[in-house]
Amino acid sequence: MTATRIDGKAFAARLRERVGEHALAFAEAAGRKPGLAVVLVGDDPASEVYVGSKGKATVAANMLSFKYRLPADASEEQLIKLVDDLNQDDRVDGILVQLPLPGHLDEQSIIAAISPDKDVDGFHVINAGRLSVGQSGFVPCTPLGCMMLLTDRLGDLSGLEAVVIGRSNIVGKPMAQLLLDANATVTVAHSRTKDLASVVKRADIVVAAVGRPQMITKDWLKDGATVIDVGINRLPPEPGKEKGKLVGDVAYDEASEVASAITPVPGGVGPMTIAVLLRNTAVAAYRNAGLKVPEGL
Ligand code: NAD
Repeated sequence: MTATRIDGKAFAARLRERVGEHALAFAEAAGRKPGLAVVLVGDDPASEVYVGSKGKATVAANMLSFKYRLPADASEEQLIKLVDDLNQDDRVDGILVQLPLPGHLDEQSIIAAISPDKDVDGFHVINAGRLSVGQSGFVPCTPLGCMMLLTDRLGDLSGLEAVVIGRSNIVGKPMAQLLLDANATVTVAHSRTKDLASVVKRADIVVAAVGRPQMITKDWLKDGATVIDVGINRLPPEPGKEKGKLVGDVAYDEASEVASAITPVPGGVGPMTIAVLLRNTAVAAYRNAGLKVPEGL
């Protein structure tokens, strides 16, 4: 068997297009465009790139992009004051504080300062709580993107065995919750799981969010499994090359011989994250304006 390649890049492009249309409709109804504010503290080059591409994608989806930058030695008070101002700013529907923050800033306190109604990353404890009791709030972008790919591919997930590898607050835990809500039977595996290979072997759905290059090999997978690879790992550079190749947590080529469908790295889950961020921002705009969130957004 050769697995179907789940094209997250194409799916994300369609989602961004749809979000852009909804953003235009919102602007007509509300008299303003949806707005996303991104806050960058310090000058980490990777964060800089992420913030730049989020800004471009926001504008391309017919929304306003606001960028705020604080120096690396900004105090917690300064950052919380900025977040507070953005909470009060009616042009801003979503607030994203780019992580990681410099070491002297407590990420949890900063996230707690964001209004849950503008927390389009879905990291606030209120939104984590809403997800866990089945109320609508904001769900972290990466797992929600994985869920969209899974339901697009498989339809109803009822009764399927799902194994999520990784238990982080931003990927593994919300992923498990979403799968549970979709009536899958869910196992969350992690660094202390015993005999991980045999746990993964029973899965109809495998979601790998570990951060270990090509850890999951073909012999771990059940025939016909659907595999979502969240991991982004850079291999050491080959001789003569400046940068190593990007790979996932799954050994893609060999896993494709066993799985029925699998996301590539890059081009799978990665592009979904930003598309879902835009989607969450459009949803926030409708909610914050007291308008009904359109079906299919
Ligand atoms: P994390 O480091 O917070 O969590 C990793 C998890 O993996 C932990 O829960 C840990 O228990 C588990 N783990 C570690 N070693 C293990 C092992 N040997 N066996 C089983 N489990 C093990 O990471 P994260 O933020 O959840 O991200 C995970 C991966 O996903 C990283 O590669 C990250 O770069 C990637 N990621 C990608 C996107 C995207 O947009 N595609 C978004 C977020 C994270």
